[in-house]
Amino acid sequence: MSGAERLARSAELQARAARVIPGGVSSPVRAYGSVGGTPRFFVSGRGATVTDADGNDYVDLVASWGPALLGHAHPAVVEAVQEAAARGLGFGASVPEEAELAEEIIRRVPEVERLRLVSTGTEATMTAIRLARGATGRPLIVKFAGHYHGHSDGLLAEAGSGLATLAMPGSAGVTAETAAQTLVLPYNDRAALAAAFAEHGERIAAVIAEAAAANMGVLPPATGFTEFLLDTAHRHGALVILDEVLTGFRAGPSGYWGIEQARVPSGERPDLFTFGKVVGGGLPLAALGGRAELMELLAPLGPVYQAGTLSGNPLAVAAGLTTLRHADVAAYRALGRAADAVAAEVTAALEAAGVPHRVQRAGTLFSVLFGAFEEAPLDYATVQMQRTDQHRAFFHAMLEGGINLPPSAFEAWFVTAAHDDAALERIAAALPAAAGAAARL
Ligand code: PMP
Repeated sequence: MSGAERLARSAELQARAARVIPGGVSSPVRAYGSVGGTPRFFVSGRGATVTDADGNDYVDLVASWGPALLGHAHPAVVEAVQEAAARGLGFGASVPEEAELAEEIIRRVPEVERLRLVSTGTEATMTAIRLARGATGRPLIVKFAGHYHGHSDGLLAEAGSGLATLAMPGSAGVTAETAAQTLVLPYNDRAALAAAFAEHGERIAAVIAEAAAANMGVLPPATGFTEFLLDTAHRHGALVILDEVLTGFRAGPSGYWGIEQARVPSGERPDLFTFGKVVGGGLPLAALGGRAELMELLAPLGPVYQAGTLSGNPLAVAAGLTTLRHADVAAYRALGRAADAVAAEVTAALEAAGVPHRVQRAGTLFSVLFGAFEEAPLDYATVQMQRTDQHRAFFHAMLEGGINLPPSAFEAWFVTAAHDDAALERIAAALPAAAGAAARL
């Protein structure tokens, strides 16, 4: 069968969708804009595998962009959602399991004393920022170039993820006044952070940072940077929002903060955390949490307003709670083993083909950067110099070989606890041809 025939149904579905949905997609990167080709429509998934509308199956390294920690359609998660659905899709009133989910998250991240459930990571960070402004009475937010915190107006400047993929520096439709309230700094740059606080310290409400940057490829904080950030912000009376939407309960059992805190001997702690993806187990659910006295500034107890018709939806809570309850030592061991194996196989294949590259790691998260980087990159400007043409060739050859990678050079690769030996062998088998495709450029 020719390539076109094997994708006929996906191509048809994309053409149909594009007539009624901008770009045919509900989120930009899905359109394959930076890699070209026919975006795959998936119709099912099980464990480490997804199947497209033409019946082709792939070992998946996207994992729904993170939530599918246990693999697709994990039986216990599906059963919990079905059982919840049979009892009603939502009531606009509290359900008992919301507190259980909050307790599970608090158990893993004790700095979180109170938690509020929302539906998307965007809402979690947007609310955390409103809360920081409400708590401090200050207007400015500091963020880092290449970090992505969702698509609220104030956080789109020099953001990673889809904006990095499409090489967009920001978004039209954000007023200059709003943009001016966000100071964007280079990541891992202590001097820039110190200078921003020296100049604007009394007006900065919060610094928001991904716990480990993972929306410009994976780029963990340099040794001591998170501690410096916490110390500097707190010395100036500003809060620190650690965004664990992507890293939370994926990079490790207590998120990336669970790994990083050993490197913060000062004992300084983030004030607010945001979570998403894994905490919803694949359904729309996210959360923000932090110290009780801050979180209790939220309505109905305090003056900072936040609400949501579908917040704490019982199906999403059931999926998230069941996912976290199954994310045990064995699951993290499987995730770590899969990440180690894929990273090692990619390195071996690219080295054999003579393709300069770096594998970037943060706990069980990793990504591959094409290009000759002498040292570990520390910021967005450096990762923007990667060979996206080589990524594109590699991506398509992997798809041909039955492996579904993120259709962007600026995204993490996601393994699941269901990536077993058979899945890892299929990945290893596809790699030499993909490395060869990259080498030919
Ligand atoms: N923060 C981070 C670190 C993220 O990775 C993302 C999504 N990739 C978000 C926030 C936004 O989450 P959502 O897409 O659910 O709005």
